[in-house]
Amino acid sequence: MSFTSEVKEELVSLRLGDSCCTLAEISALSFCLASFSLRGRGEVLLNYTSQSPTVAKRLVMLFRFFGHKNIGMSTRRDNRFGGRRFTVLTLSGNDARAMMQRIGVLRLEQGVFQYRNIPQRTVRRICCQRAYIRGMFLGVGNISLPEKAYHAEFILPDKKRAEFLLRTLQLQNMQFSMYKRRSSYVVYSKNSGEIASLLATMGAVRALLRFEDIRMLSQVKAKALRSVNCDQANLSRQIATAQKQLEHIDHIYKFAGLTALPDNLQQLARLRISHPDYSLKQLGSMLKPSKSKATVSRMFKQIEEFADNISEHIPTTSREVKT
Ligand SMILES: [Zn+2]
Repeated sequence: MSFTSEVKEELVSLRLGDSCCTLAEISALSFCLASFSLRGRGEVLLNYTSQSPTVAKRLVMLFRFFGHKNIGMSTRRDNRFGGRRFTVLTLSGNDARAMMQRIGVLRLEQGVFQYRNIPQRTVRRICCQRAYIRGMFLGVGNISLPEKAYHAEFILPDKKRAEFLLRTLQLQNMQFSMYKRRSSYVVYSKNSGEIASLLATMGAVRALLRFEDIRMLSQVKAKALRSVNCDQANLSRQIATAQKQLEHIDHIYKFAGLTALPDNLQQLARLRISHPDYSLKQLGSMLKPSKSKATVSRMFKQIEEFADNISEHIPTTSREVKT
């Protein structure tokens, strides 16, 4: 499975947020995947076309959240894309009209749909900015395997939508760039720090841990090569320890959420996620108030015990959707 598919699988498994965020997510997916057409007697069809069955599943979840049960589904092969299969989900009639009005981009004027700018309110709140970015990534996002090169991109059909995404990323303190590729606009970053932030912002914590693992290993390898006197055994031990700690943190994240940890341990867990290559001493100096190496080691022991005590029962908030 590609890293992108892995990230998307994880995003789709996240439970739907508050209705404001759910609206932001469906808006983003609509802006990048939907097209509309008119049939006889003024009937409107809203078609969402995606190559990914995972994304189609998320769309069905979102449609149902807004009470749309009549969802048409078909697949088609596109010869221009080497005969790839696409899933097309269709809302029609009142469902289509309601969705268009909900996302506020198209309005009916004298029987004709008018295109408007993307409403600013879509990303007014911080939670919604994240949901919007997640929706965009599900629709048109890509992260290339970090083993090869760090590269994240979103491919958008027009400048307006690309600039809107760029601004939304900026609101979340991420600096992406934009360029025109044939008839599309690409919003991208080659900076591993920005890509890690993107994963964290979207809530793809498992993917983030894997990404950081790879990032850590390559940093550690680079450091090892640079330093002739590097103590290999010590380094390997440090990597193995950090790896174990990340596994405990990942386990807690998956089965209880990091917020289940006491504040001091939570702070340490987050520091470890963003600095997998730091020593206990370095992590201790970053804690507020700062802690000694021995205390940090005890705190990781507590995190480990916390992880061991969690039964492997998911509190289940995500709703199963059969498509
Ligand atoms: Zn929100």
